[in-house]
Amino acid sequence: MSPLCNRLNHSCDPNASIVANTTSFKKFNKNEAICVALKSIKKAEELTIWYLSKSHAFLDTEKRRSALLSCYGFLCLCKNCTAE
Ligand SMILES: [Zn+2]
Repeated sequence: MSPLCNRLNHSCDPNASIVANTTSFKKFNKNEAICVALKSIKKAEELTIWYLSKSHAFLDTEKRRSALLSCYGFLCLCKNCTAE
C-alpha cells in the first residue's frame, strides 16, 4: 500500500476507496494504489476510507465501533457513529 493511502483515516461513511489498478494488474506494484471518490468531495475535505471488511457494513453502530476498536485500536467518532 502506498504511504499516502496509509495516512487516510476511516469513516463509517467514507468518501473514497482504495482499489487495485486492474488495468495493469500484472504490473501492479504493491506500493501503488488508486484512490477513487465514492461521492462528491469538496476542496480541502478530508479523504476517508472504510477500514473494515464489507461484512462489517451491516453491523449496528455499537458493533461496528467495537470492531474498529478491537482491530485498529480507536473509537470511531465519525458523523455516523456520533449522530445517535
Ligand atoms: Zn464511525
